[in-house]
Formats: sequence, structure tokens, C-alpha cells
Amino acid sequence: MFNLILFGPPGSGKGTQSEKLVDKYGLLHLSTGNLLREEIANKTPLGIEAKKFIDNGQLVPDEVVIGMVDSYFDKHKDAKGFLFDGFPRTVAQAQALDKLLALKKTDIASVLALDVSEDELVKRLLNRGKTSGRSDDTNDEVIRKRFSVYSNETSPVAEYYKKARKFKNIKGEGSVEEIFAALRQAIDKTMANYKSL
Ligand code: AMP
Repeated sequence: MFNLILFGPPGSGKGTQSEKLVDKYGLLHLSTGNLLREEIANKTPLGIEAKKFIDNGQLVPDEVVIGMVDSYFDKHKDAKGFLFDGFPRTVAQAQALDKLLALKKTDIASVLALDVSEDELVKRLLNRGKTSGRSDDTNDEVIRKRFSVYSNETSPVAEYYKKARKFKNIKGEGSVEEIFAALRQAIDKTMANYKSL
């Protein structure tokens, strides 16, 4: 298997680039944000519980998210690899992911982090909020909360993968195609050197 993490703050373009990357590399897109929104749309108990956190810009508890990823793995046993988008968002999630992948005799090949200035992020989120139907993209205060959660709880995840020498920064500003090209270049290089477990 060949597994990648697309990392970066809210609005950095993870969703847009993930769609292009899974097409190009034949990976399965695992976006915990999308899975949670599906649960909310289906009004499941998990969705109803998660909505309270999402609407406040807070993280959904680790055990809920990790359980969801675990059951996604169970449903996709023959995947040739995953592209993780918006997961892991805490160090505990990163550790749990390592354990789940080890059970599948695989690991993370690389973490690609989209680097975008905060001014640009706010602009993109407010713009996305006009059409995405996402309540967490329309409210200034919720957007600010998501940034503070990112810097307090999610940025330590970058340190976790830097220590494992798997972390790569990618310029996340420019056209969608330019950013996609930079990601492809980094992935192709990783693939050429990757030794699976
Ligand atoms: P996203 O679509 O990735 O921006 O996620 C939207 C919201 O879903 C986040 O602001 C969190 O409230 C929640 N969420 C998504 N992924 C996770 C995760 N890995 N851990 C905790 N909460 C998450």
C-alpha cells in the first residue's frame, strides 16, 4: 500500500487537491470532515453528537474520529492506498493511525503540508461559505476558533511527522494547477524512494 496525508489549516485547499490526487494516483480519499458531514446529513447519533463540536469550530473527540476511520478501513480492505485529508488532527489521532496501519502491515509514506498565509485562508473560507452550505464557513467567530484549534491541537501533528522525517511543505498559494503540479512532483519523488513495509 501507499498512503499519504494531505495536511494544512482550514481553507488551505486540501479538499480540492485531494480530489485531483486520488484520480491521478488511484488512492481512496478518506476525509474525516466529509464522513462527519455524511453522518450529520443522515441524522445518525454520531452525526448529531458531532454537529455540536463542528458548529462551534471545535474538534470532534478523538475516539469518535478514530472509530470512524477504523470502520472505513474495514469497508475498504482491498484499497491500494489512502489519501488522508483532515486526519489526523491531534497527536493522539496520529498515534492511533500508526497503530491501525501497522495492523495492515503498512505505514504513511509522506505528509504533504499546504502552506498558505492566514489572510488568504480567511478570504478563501468566507468565499467558500457563500456556496458550500457549510455553517462553519460563514461565521467569523467559528473560523477564528478553527484557526486557534489548528495552532493549538493540530500543528503538533506536524512535529510528530517531522521527527519521523515524513513531513514536506508545499507552497499552497497560486493556481489550483500550479499547486497540483508541486504536489505531484513531491509524490513522484516519494514513490520513487518508498520502500513498503
Ligand atoms: P474539515 O472538513 O476537514 O474542515 O472538517 C470540518 C470539521 O469537522 C472540523 O472543524 C472538525 O470540527 C471536524 N473534524 C473533521 N476531521 C476531524 C478530525 N480528524 N478530528 C476531529 N474533528 C474533525
